[in-house]
Amino acid sequence: MNKFLVFLEQREGVVKKASVSLWNRIQELAALRGDSVVSGILVGPADIRQLDGVIAGDGVIYHAKAESCRLYNQECYTRVVADIFQREACTALYFADTAMSRELAPRLSVRLQASLLTGCTMSDPALDCVSRPVYSGSFLASFVPKRHQRLFILSSSASISSYSAGGHIDFIDVDPQSFSMENIFPVVRQIVMREGRPDVAEARIVVAGGRGMGGSEGFALLEQLALLLGGAVGASRTAVDEGWRPHAEQIGQTGKTVAPALYFACGISGAVQHRAGIGSAGIVVAINRDRHAPIFDIADYGIAGDVHNVLPKLVDSLKDFLKKQ
Ligand SMILES: Cc1cc2nc3c(=O)[nH]c(=O)nc-3n(C[C@H](O)[C@H](O)[C@H](O)COP(=O)(O)OP(=O)(O)OC[C@H]3O[C@@H](n4cnc5c(N)ncnc54)[C@H](O)[C@@H]3O)c2cc1C
Repeated sequence: MNKFLVFLEQREGVVKKASVSLWNRIQELAALRGDSVVSGILVGPADIRQLDGVIAGDGVIYHAKAESCRLYNQECYTRVVADIFQREACTALYFADTAMSRELAPRLSVRLQASLLTGCTMSDPALDCVSRPVYSGSFLASFVPKRHQRLFILSSSASISSYSAGGHIDFIDVDPQSFSMENIFPVVRQIVMREGRPDVAEARIVVAGGRGMGGSEGFALLEQLALLLGGAVGASRTAVDEGWRPHAEQIGQTGKTVAPALYFACGISGAVQHRAGIGSAGIVVAINRDRHAPIFDIADYGIAGDVHNVLPKLVDSLKDFLKKQ
């Protein structure tokens, strides 16, 4: 029987949606395979009732809920996760693609002497072979990890699951007594961004802007649109490099991979490195004043026009529409 472990990431006690989707996806694939069990590891205090009705399948979730694990601490988290992985004789460990997992997974792969594959899109139900976009998403390559023990960081598009809720999960407390590293790695300052908006990697609607927005003030229009639609604002690398938007919003090869149902590309040319991050978006709407811009090659709906003319009209019509609802 193969044993798979899923890392469930929490921040401030809230389990990330990306981790929940990942759990459901791995459960779905394990069910197809038929010879595997899935367990989870949740590090840090979190109310497990938030998982009621959102996670699917049967299994066990190990919960290290000690106060000392509240804030991410690489040494402490590595020890807790490695301990469960080894104790339960797991063969694979799965992470959602987040800033935390990009730091934690490499550390764990060294500790566990395991293969690590990042940015994977899982296609094989046998779970042994994974695909990964290469050359900025121009090709999809298949990889078979060499080592028996494997770690995978799955892109958000790979975690889309038809599983929703149902099944029986047991929660087992884990005591990370000797893991407290607070004195060795004190947290000097924690900066929390609270915008009341979904993270761009998890949002169902993303309104992204590029150089064509003309400056940080141009993004005010995108903020309005995102607010009306309940979506998140994203940005091209140019908009981030110019300092108009924070790096957390960058989409593409060196930014985040997104998989929203609806994606707006406003004043974005559609360079291959940007497209690498939106391959799994549902409907793509492009607004660009250059009707030959490459973004129109992949857009489902295209508006050839100036964003400063088109967007205010779009925002006004949406406001009118919502008022009438
Ligand atoms: C190794 C590497 C990694 C990279 N990683 C990323 C990444 O993660 N994400 C990413 O986005 N890029 C990435 N890039 C950069 C990428 O190659 C492009 O340079 C970048 O995506 C271009 O951003 P842009 O579309 O905003 O700007 P531009 O390419 O300058 O395009 C601006 C577009 O806006 C249009 N426009 C201008 N004014 C208006 C207006 N008023 N109304 C409507 N349309 C208008 C123009 O017609 C044009 O199509 C990477 C590059 C490299 C080499």
